[in-house]
Amino acid sequence: MIKNYLKMQFYSFPRNEAFARDAVAAFCLELNPTLADLSDVKTAVSEAVTNCTVHAYGKEAGLVTVECEIEDGTLHIKIGDKGKGIADVEQAVQPFYTSLPSDERSGMGFTIMQTFMDEFSVNSKEGEGTVVYMSKSIKAEVENA
Ligand code: ATP
Ligand code: MG
Repeated sequence: MIKNYLKMQFYSFPRNEAFARDAVAAFCLELNPTLADLSDVKTAVSEAVTNCTVHAYGKEAGLVTVECEIEDGTLHIKIGDKGKGIADVEQAVQPFYTSLPSDERSGMGFTIMQTFMDEFSVNSKEGEGTVVYMSKSIKAEVENA
């Protein structure tokens, strides 16, 4: 069976963060998510897209690509940029690590994505860009009759 799939691309303007999080939330409505599921997905997308704006492209604007797929009750999300990339991914995903402490960043974005989603991974190459992959199972809970 063909899986439902969404691909969208937009500039990393800060105002597109709300668009991206609401678009992904709307896309997964077919899974009948709880409000808690929706809130988790929106928060994770928001953190990943904000990172593209703030870190990948900085003062410039560049394209952010968001791909979603629904497979067997699970929402898969890929958020990619062609920005500056991350030299040390292991360090970047540590709680409280930020390369911009002077900008009041708390270094918790990746930790939030990891906590709110079931699967999380980061692929990045310095000078080439970054792709964040996340998934969340939104299967309807089986009732204990
Ligand atoms: P916060 O998300 O709490 O505002 P933060 O963005 O610094 O702070 P994380 O989202 O956890 O924290 O990201 C950690 C670090 O990883 C960032 O400081 C940045 O150096 C790097 N990083 C994250 N996403 C990207 C990206 N798309 N491109 C380049 N670097 C990134
Ligand atoms: Mg962040």
